[in-house]
Amino acid sequence: VPRVFSGVQPTGNLHLGNYLGAIVRFVEMQSTHDCIYCVVDMHAITIWQDPAELARATREVTAAFLAAGIDPKAHIVFNQSQVHVHAELAWVFNCVARMGWLSRMTQFKEKAGKDRENASVGLFAYPNLMAADILAYLATHVPVGEDQKQHLELARDIATKFNHDFSATIASNGFGEEFFPITEPLITGPATRIMSLRDGTKKMSKSDPSEYSRIALTDDADAIALKFRKARTDPEPLPSEVDGLKGRAEADNLVGIFAALADQSKAQVLSDFGGSQFSVFKPALADLAVARMAPIASEMRRLLADPGHIDSVLTDGADRARAIAEKTMDGVKDVIGFIRKK
Ligand code: ATP
Ligand code: MG
Repeated sequence: VPRVFSGVQPTGNLHLGNYLGAIVRFVEMQSTHDCIYCVVDMHAITIWQDPAELARATREVTAAFLAAGIDPKAHIVFNQSQVHVHAELAWVFNCVARMGWLSRMTQFKEKAGKDRENASVGLFAYPNLMAADILAYLATHVPVGEDQKQHLELARDIATKFNHDFSATIASNGFGEEFFPITEPLITGPATRIMSLRDGTKKMSKSDPSEYSRIALTDDADAIALKFRKARTDPEPLPSEVDGLKGRAEADNLVGIFAALADQSKAQVLSDFGGSQFSVFKPALADLAVARMAPIASEMRRLLADPGHIDSVLTDGADRARAIAEKTMDGVKDVIGFIRKK
């Protein structure tokens, strides 16, 4: 059975983009793959996080995974910092990846902003840790949103360079030609890039300072309706054909969200709403979002009322994850020439 790894950062407000672009896909893949889903708290601290808030958000992401339908017994759900191999393997990858490769990462440029001198070293090295997350489990498939494409390409470059740099000891230790698999990114589905409700050129993000830029998974019906009502649009009615969405980023985004929530194509949505004003379309979109999200939000609240249970899910998942990752790390050590207890 092919193995899937993916992660979500506990950096605050989980939103519709995380849900439609990642978590829905995580749920789907459970029937065909062995899945490892990680709350990547070590990634979160590449930007300073309030400690109490970090713990709260870690439990919240876990609750979202479970509420959406991830089965933590059949698969693995854990928080990254409980498995030391992520940090250990990331160090090795810090020494495999090149400065030039990381300098080209657009997420670093966006998150560091103008004051790059003041960004953490961790924010720069973030993609190496992400490669370690995936490759510690020799995962072959990684479902992510479109924004992570570049990081996954870097993970492939790291795996390729490691396999090449250590090819002699990889072979002599009995691992054949490739130690690490060349991971396939899975960037598919109708919602690989949900945009901000305030700016159709920026992706919806947890870290956007504006609450109105995103629909949070925990928003109630009133908040959802208000945010869609305030969502930026142009004054034209919706077109009847998908082609008519060209150059209308905000309209395209709202139609795409509707389509993803309704499991329809954009063409189907436009066949129903072509010619409608946003004053008609937005309330319909809000109703649909509430119908789809409210059961998840209420299940999350139920789960979060028992943080002890959530923590035990994470700890149990971490124990099973660690067993897999430690085996990989032993192999890495042998291949590199690190002496270890046998
Ligand atoms: P942050 O702003 O802190 O980076 P984020 O919203 O980007 O938060 P992440 O935890 O970095 O969330 O990403 C979790 C998963 O959600 C990744 O697979 C990512 O590609 C996906 N994702 C994030 N934003 C979107 C979006 N707007 N549309 C679709 N998928 C998204
Ligand atoms: Mg992100």
